[in-house]
Amino acid sequence: MNILFASSEIFPYAKSGGLADVAHSLPNELREVAKVYTVMPLYSSVDRKKYDISYSGFSFDIWLNGTKHQIDLYRQSKNSFELFLYNPILCDRESLYNDSFGDFGNNQLRFGLFSYAVIETMLRLELKIDAIHLNDWQSALVALLAKTKYHLTQKIVFTIHNLAYQGIFHKSAMNELELNWEECFKSDRFEYFDQVNFLKAGIFYSDVITTVSPTYALEIQTPSFGHTLESMLITNSHKLKGIINGISYDVFNPATDENIYKNFDIQSYDLKLKNKTKLCKELNLSEPNRPLFIFIGRFADQKGVDLILQSLHLLKDFEINVAILGSGERYYNGVFTKLTDKYSNIHIKVGYDESFARKLYASADFLLMPSIFEPCGLNQMIMMRYGGVPIVAKTGGLKDTVVDFSDSSNHTKEIGVGVTFEEYNLFWYMHAITKAISLYSNQKKYIKFAKHNMSVDNSWKHSAKEYLRVYK
Ligand code: ADP
Repeated sequence: MNILFASSEIFPYAKSGGLADVAHSLPNELREVAKVYTVMPLYSSVDRKKYDISYSGFSFDIWLNGTKHQIDLYRQSKNSFELFLYNPILCDRESLYNDSFGDFGNNQLRFGLFSYAVIETMLRLELKIDAIHLNDWQSALVALLAKTKYHLTQKIVFTIHNLAYQGIFHKSAMNELELNWEECFKSDRFEYFDQVNFLKAGIFYSDVITTVSPTYALEIQTPSFGHTLESMLITNSHKLKGIINGISYDVFNPATDENIYKNFDIQSYDLKLKNKTKLCKELNLSEPNRPLFIFIGRFADQKGVDLILQSLHLLKDFEINVAILGSGERYYNGVFTKLTDKYSNIHIKVGYDESFARKLYASADFLLMPSIFEPCGLNQMIMMRYGGVPIVAKTGGLKDTVVDFSDSSNHTKEIGVGVTFEEYNLFWYMHAITKAISLYSNQKKYIKFAKHNMSVDNSWKHSAKEYLRVYK
């Protein structure tokens, strides 16, 4: 089985969120049994030297609307199955998709070009591919091009990692990308309120649609979670499947992680405390024997950031420590920055910091994840792997991976134990936090659950098999 896996971000080269983690860990797992080529843009922010990425000597041109675009093919030297595409319009940007004022004005051309280049790379290198796996709107146009322009026979699998981001642009993109108006500009295909919608093209033109948890696969077919595409998803539900994401057990491993203060595993669980003690000292958080609550994530409404903010003036009086790491929407970045030194038991860092994130996971007792919606969520799985207990809203993938500790009838080896809350508001969120504090006061019980979470298998082992079935 030969697979071409296209993604706009892949860890460790470029990462804005969970997509990059998945685009690294799923292909790696599949490589045990299949040949998997990955392809991503070689953004100027990617450290070519550090990752040993060099020019392959192969370039080609794509002509669009009278303009020539040169694409240069790069490879990772140790793994020649990792391909990178360089073109200045696509890659020479400081951030991946937008600046602080919103979308870059030419994202339709950037990712349209990327989609053309993915197919041209496969054809020009004469790669023998059985299935092309696309991820989110940035590579969704491959499906449309494969079916309407190139007439490819490979199976096209399209994964929706987050329906909230659809890639909606002015219809002038039709001419800019030389697309067939009659075939594509239709309300059940690429057209969207007289604009174009890349994600819709992925839904219509792919052979199989997957999304990243079984619950999210159902939720997106309803108005509350469908982001206006619920009818389109119902119409295409015969080819829609929810497959839960996994995490890389090599990258996220407290026994070997070089970012953390003290390595530990389930047998040496006591050593986790050394991480918390050291972290609290570094962050000037007093009394490290208090429970440590962390939040790591994008500052976006989706992540429940308003609840986090509303709760801070209450949590400042609790006998707990809190550490927050995040960045995202400009408004939230500003609000959190202003709060940075306000409360002695709450540490806030605005920014993106992979190494600090690992230290937080290794030190934390509880992870806060009050998401409004969560397609899968990786943080809760990482938290479990690092011996902590997640506090989650009961939605999407969080529902599929965490059960409430008080619901002992549902405790099994397959699912993590945490604190869950159903209704999205400050009352139930604070209720969940107080439940967590009371759980922590019973150390024997708390440690039993924390160790249980470390033993739950959230790796790709099971889900990769499901993908192999989908590719066939
Ligand atoms: P998203 O919706 O952002 O993709 P996920 O839970 O699927 O959320 O994945 C988030 C990934 O990004 C996790 O690996 C998490 O640790 C990481 N992450 C998020 N924000 C930050 C940050 N500010 N610094 C470091 N890592 C972060």
